[in-house]
Amino acid sequence: MMMNMKHLARLVALTLALSTGAQAAGQFDDKFRQLDELLPTPSATRSASGAPGHAYWQQRADYTLRATLDENKRAITGAGSITYHNNSPDTLAYLWVQLDQNMFRGDSDNRTISTIPTRDAWQKGGAEGVKFDAIRFAFESRSFEGGIQVANVKDAAGRPLHYVVNKTMMRIDLPQPMKPGARFSFALEWKFNIPEASVLGRRMGYERFDKEDKNDLFEVAQWFPRMAAYYDVKGWQNKQYLGDGEFTLEFGDYDVALTVPADHIVASTGELQNPGEVLTAAQRERLAKARTAKAPVVIVTQAEAEAAEKGRAANMKTWRFKAKNVRDFAFASSRKFIWDAQGLRSGDNAVMAMSYYPKEGNPLWQKYSTQAVVHTIEQYSKYSFDYPYPTAISVNGPIGGMEYPMISFNGGRPTKDKKTGEKTYSKSTKYGLISVIIHEVGHNYYPMIVNSDERQWTWMDEGLNSFLQFLAEEAWEENYPARRGEPRDITDYMRSKNQTPVMTNSESVLQRGPNAYGKPATALNILRETVLGRELFDFAFKEYGRRWKFKRPTPADLFRTMEDASGTDLDWFWRGWFYTTDAVDVSVDGISEYTISSQNPELEQAWRRKLRDAEPMSLTDQRNKGLVRRVDAHPELKDFYNEHDDFTVTNADRNKYRETQDKLEDWEKALLSSGKHLYLVDFTNVGGLVTPLVLEIQLASGKKYIERIPAEVWRYSPSKITKLIVTDEPMTGLTQDPYWETADINVDNNAWPRKLTPSRLELFKTERGGNDMMKDFNAPLKKPEAAPKAVQ
Ligand SMILES: [Zn+2]
Repeated sequence: MMMNMKHLARLVALTLALSTGAQAAGQFDDKFRQLDELLPTPSATRSASGAPGHAYWQQRADYTLRATLDENKRAITGAGSITYHNNSPDTLAYLWVQLDQNMFRGDSDNRTISTIPTRDAWQKGGAEGVKFDAIRFAFESRSFEGGIQVANVKDAAGRPLHYVVNKTMMRIDLPQPMKPGARFSFALEWKFNIPEASVLGRRMGYERFDKEDKNDLFEVAQWFPRMAAYYDVKGWQNKQYLGDGEFTLEFGDYDVALTVPADHIVASTGELQNPGEVLTAAQRERLAKARTAKAPVVIVTQAEAEAAEKGRAANMKTWRFKAKNVRDFAFASSRKFIWDAQGLRSGDNAVMAMSYYPKEGNPLWQKYSTQAVVHTIEQYSKYSFDYPYPTAISVNGPIGGMEYPMISFNGGRPTKDKKTGEKTYSKSTKYGLISVIIHEVGHNYYPMIVNSDERQWTWMDEGLNSFLQFLAEEAWEENYPARRGEPRDITDYMRSKNQTPVMTNSESVLQRGPNAYGKPATALNILRETVLGRELFDFAFKEYGRRWKFKRPTPADLFRTMEDASGTDLDWFWRGWFYTTDAVDVSVDGISEYTISSQNPELEQAWRRKLRDAEPMSLTDQRNKGLVRRVDAHPELKDFYNEHDDFTVTNADRNKYRETQDKLEDWEKALLSSGKHLYLVDFTNVGGLVTPLVLEIQLASGKKYIERIPAEVWRYSPSKITKLIVTDEPMTGLTQDPYWETADINVDNNAWPRKLTPSRLELFKTERGGNDMMKDFNAPLKKPEAAPKAVQ
């Protein structure tokens, strides 16, 4: 039988429009072409499977360091030696060392290249205007005497080495070139002033408390000259520290002696070597108990910390730590620290989860911090590898969230009512704290162990880490208010202007949070839930961690491993999500319905007559109703054609039907009476990012089901496709992405028939009258209030 002619015409027209459109454009945008043109050629160091190649190598640096904290001057004096191992096949004439503290110099590039985004944004700063802090930063960043002052760079025999400081880097010229496999040791001394975290600090600094409290809290990092990375695809990582691109470092062993005021408690990367010299007998006993405890055990109580705050030791104590196979070393020191700990096992490894916080952090910190550390290790290990280090630490201080090997600095405290002293905290403070601890402790896996080049790619550590953070948050409690990971939470960003692709250097990324954290985390979640499924994804992601732990992966190694281990070509996915700023926006444009013609003229002509009768009556016919026509007045004018309309079945029709039916095979006859419903659904890819289709189909009986269609459905026509859907009964509705799992930025065009979006309109009274200067001029003057009494 006949296809509905109108629809057929439409389909033909659409096909024509598509083919001519593609030709007119002159080129076909193949969103599935392979990434080979963008990825580095596989080599003996990095294989095409995404695994380290048979000739993979990386450098190594071992450190023996001493540091003294001058509490009054808020300064570090350091000395030590570095042994550099040249594991590369190259001969090196010089070594580059990072002096990241130099970012805090008044004349640093960080200060001199900073610009104001726009005048408007600067003046308005949202609704808040320019803040005191911003102007204080502008003034003090130019006057603070920051930066590392290096002295006495010598070789192992004590001979001075020539060196040149280039902004945040230092070149040491070697007396003889280092051959492959050689090592070279050198010693040096240095000092620097610690910046105040809330004023100038970034990722480290000290905290001042209120006027009555003379104790500071020190979070110290980037505190020693660190070897710059030298590796197969970059040579020396020569990008200066401009402030956004974090740290690219080599693994090594550390032996560190930290000399601090005798009443300080030190939290540090590494394992404490001399507890007998720095801890009391009671503290050592509590620590031993914590190892096998089922809940955190307090090592330094709040009462003990508060007692320590009241004194100020004149003498110093030296804490000694050793750390194996870490890429960095940080510590925190204060007499204000409360300290708790709980042991756990990660695979065969015994780990101590520990937290250090001032009384200002309670009651939140004692309740949540160490629990969050334990939770992080349990969850991250599931998706990566066992936690290999002996400690995992969360420190509360002025740095809002920053990671170092084994130790992290985390912000978030309750607020204290100035009058009553009562402590309360908001929901966002509570979950913000749990989240930041999960995030920063989680960074142990990415990038502290899976050692990506952070100075080049912020997303490789932040994106992967934010993805696992989301999984860990989901495992903390139901309806956890996770900020990043759910596709629906990235749509505002994906819709925004002024985006950079995820594959953008750390220093050039615009909108760092959504770009380098949110978008890659969400992309991985979509890859897991919608593209690959959990089983394939989790295996492949774990394989990436297994292959690259204690090594330095590049983006290509991640992309290739995920494809290699999942058995899936994902080039279209990486291309769309990581190399473009396209967004997912699929529109369901329209649907045409077909049923198969029976070819029986009795049925088909009746069907067509019914269709004609269903058409609206013309306006003229409506108004002419009841009109006395000529043929009514003269019935003799009527004949055969007044008795039969265009749909009358003739014997010729019947004969023709019989003839054609005789020629049909049985299976052809069965098709004619199948009763199936066919729908041609038109989709437009408005956003440009190709995506799987997730179609929820609703039938007349009320039954609903989902059809999942891989993204390759777009391969011949990335911007417009027509898809045939076959159902057993009439379809009454179709929705693309009913669970909002693809990050579609406009769900208004996802349903057929279209759905109304309900919304509330708030009405306000018109404000009348403005300033009344005459009234204000005579307003009574208020007396100055007495200063509020300090509450202890
Ligand atoms: Zn991070």
